[in-house]
This record gives sequence, C-alpha cells and structure tokens, in this order.
Amino acid sequence: MEEIETERVENGSRLPARDTTWIEQLKQNPRRDFIQAIRDNDAARCLVKTAEIHGHFCPGSALGVMASLCGLRRLGGESIPSDGLENLMAIVEINACFADGVQAVSGCTLGNNALVYRDLGRMAVTFAIRGKESGVRVRVHPEFRSHITRAVPEFHPLLEKVIKNREGGPEEETAFKKKAREAAFALIGLPFELLLITESVRPDLPEYAPITESVVCPACGETIMATKVVSDGEKSGLCYMCAGGPYRQVEGRGIVTVSHGK
Ligand SMILES: [Zn+2]
Ligand SMILES: [Zn+2]
Repeated sequence: MEEIETERVENGSRLPARDTTWIEQLKQNPRRDFIQAIRDNDAARCLVKTAEIHGHFCPGSALGVMASLCGLRRLGGESIPSDGLENLMAIVEINACFADGVQAVSGCTLGNNALVYRDLGRMAVTFAIRGKESGVRVRVHPEFRSHITRAVPEFHPLLEKVIKNREGGPEEETAFKKKAREAAFALIGLPFELLLITESVRPDLPEYAPITESVVCPACGETIMATKVVSDGEKSGLCYMCAGGPYRQVEGRGIVTVSHGK
C-alpha cells in the first residue's frame, strides 16, 4: 500500500499532509466555500454542499437553496458572510427538506439560534439582519410543481408510489432517487422569478438567545438549562423528563407537546 506522508495536527490526529493547508484555511473561515458559491450565484455548488448534510438531492432542498440565494442577494452583501452569531437571522416556516437548504446556504441553523422555526407549514423563509428595519421574505411560487413535471415527468408518480404510499420495491426506490436528483438540478437551473416570490417585510425577530445558568436535576443527575426545569409545585426543580412532561418537540408533524406520566 502507498505510504501517505502525514504530520501531527493540534488535536493529535494524523492527516495526510496535503490536507493540512485546507484545514488551516477552513479554520479561519469555515463557511469559505459556501460564501464563494453564494457570491458566484452558483446554485449547483450550494446544492451539492447542502446534500452533505441533507443526505440526498430533492426538489425541496433545491428550493431552499434557491430561496436562500435569492433572499441573501436581495438583502445585500452584508448578509452573505454569516458567522452563525445571530447577526443574520432566518425565520423558516416549514420543517421539511426546504429547511436544510436554508440552513446550509444561509448558515442560520437550529444549533446557532440564528434559525427561528415558525410552525406554519409554508415553503417560505424570511431573512433579516438584527438592528435593521426591513427584511426579505421569500416564498415558493404555487406553480413550482409544473416546472418539475415538465423537466422530469416521472418524478411525481414515483413520489406518490415510493414515498407517499410506501409501495415501491428497491428498483423503484433507486429510480426515485435518480429522478429526485434530476428534478433538483432542473429547478436550480431556472430563474428565481419562475420559482420564487419575494417581498420586503418588517421582520418580527425574537430576542437574542439567552445565556442561561445550568442546574442539576436532583432525580436524574443530568445538567439542565435553568430555564428548562419545573418551576413550581411538588416537582419543582426536576427536569421535564423526570417530572413526566409536558415538554415540546419538533417532529414531522411540527411542534407537538408530549406528556408521559411517570
Ligand atoms: Zn429532501
Ligand atoms: Zn431529571
């Protein structure tokens, strides 16, 4: 086997020497590749990078990519180099594939609190910069499906069979993935105005994410954000799990409240 020259990096792991420069550059600006792709208006590069987290190519994530490219460009250059510190904010209105296109391209994610999830089931996103009066809301054109049908007629029938009715065999599943990929790349080749409708809005942004104290739940011993324990009654101080709920979770149906008596 060929020996690859390695050198030791900070965390003690060994990487091929040719990779260390690449890592060093990304350490300075981890979103470098995305930022360049956005500045180049290169939807294909954005879609490919989105699929790194989304796992597959599909029309929904492609529309999220296009909505973000369009929204960020309209918001202005300042919005593009988002560093995930809540300067640029995204309010996304659906928890489907679309949301991953938004998270990847904008850099506003669930984890960095620059993404607000509004449980409305609409394929739309609003981008805004904190401290600025106006933002831009981008929604998907109601006729977007016709563009998919024109470019990839097999997509919708396969979607119905494989995903909706869960009736497809392995061959149809493979065919569906291929057609979904073709549909995604067909969409990103279209002009924004065929796919999207944009408007200026006064965004209703929440406060900065609070930095909260941590407390230890006396029942399970886990460390919990102080704002996430039961505040009164006999279960006061317990985490929601030990208290038997209720707590909220985001799932396919949206935000739901879960209770489980203990
Ligand atoms: Zn998807
Ligand atoms: Zn607990």
